[in-house]
Amino acid sequence: MSDTTLSIGSLEAGPGTKVRGSVRADLGTLTADIPLTLVNGTRPGPRVVITAGVHGGEFTPIDAVVRLADRLEPGEVSGQVIICPVANPNAVYQGRLNVSPVDGVNINRVFPGDPDGGPTERLAAWLFANLVDGADVYVDLHCGGIDQVLRDFVGYRLTGDPDLDKATAELAGSFGIEDLMIGLNADGGNSHAAAARRGISAVLVEVGELGQRDGATARRRVDGLFRALRHLGVLDPDDSAPAPIREWVWSAGVTAEATGLWYPEFSFDADVIGEVAEGDVLGRIIDPTDGTEHTVHAPAGGRIIYGMHGLTVAPGTELAALAIPWDPDTAPSPDTLSVPGMGRGSDEADPRP
Ligand SMILES: [Zn+2]
Repeated sequence: MSDTTLSIGSLEAGPGTKVRGSVRADLGTLTADIPLTLVNGTRPGPRVVITAGVHGGEFTPIDAVVRLADRLEPGEVSGQVIICPVANPNAVYQGRLNVSPVDGVNINRVFPGDPDGGPTERLAAWLFANLVDGADVYVDLHCGGIDQVLRDFVGYRLTGDPDLDKATAELAGSFGIEDLMIGLNADGGNSHAAAARRGISAVLVEVGELGQRDGATARRRVDGLFRALRHLGVLDPDDSAPAPIREWVWSAGVTAEATGLWYPEFSFDADVIGEVAEGDVLGRIIDPTDGTEHTVHAPAGGRIIYGMHGLTVAPGTELAALAIPWDPDTAPSPDTLSVPGMGRGSDEADPRP
């Protein structure tokens, strides 16, 4: 039996125990109570940190990890699992958006945070210092926002460390989600990118869209988490076959350049979100004042991985993110690949490679 007590702030889980509670994070002008479940296994193994609720309006991830926390038994666990169902309580409970109502900051642009910054930057720093930094593996769960359609995918970043990149690629492929989005470097303020820069095997898991919180999607997500935990050796293996994967890289992000009403011309039907060629019309933004029409073209070809479903948009609103199949032999280098039109964006994937 492992003899290591698992501690986060004032929460402690001895070997072979599961503890639920919350730990208060001091954000300068306010505090946040971060809910946590600590599952301390009876055998040695990796420490896996799983977060949901990094963004508001993304319900399925929260639903899924609470179900996971209920079902994980410490007697069946090798290593330690730390589950945080609501990593950003202000954004989750006081809003429905990816920016926090506290300061207007998208936390998934500022990781690993700043302990002397504004409240959201401090929260990011707290999450890193208390949860992520001690992890061997980090899984951050998101979905399309309440106004976003999205194809399920797992994203990860290349770091240049071949062993880490291989382990992360295998982890990414273990969730039973077919589409893997590969970021060609680990730059930027996404949680999984910042963790990867610290040598942690880190993935972004995106399942669900449009503010849905149906049980079937949550169960699909929980099933994927169990698969990943078996892959990692945290849970005993079973006889389920590995699922097929397809690897992609981002080819473009498209942001609105006008204020108005968005009429996309690509399909949002499940499983037929379209492929487009460079220059294709993606949709139109109509000014309700005078009917002026602003046509939006695809700056590059690719498959639409997620897109704006909401009607009202403003300059900078992310309209679509496109990806192309990954081919290591012909892929552009991280230094030369530029993604036109990437604005501040509403995504969690950060298609900037
Ligand atoms: Zn998100």
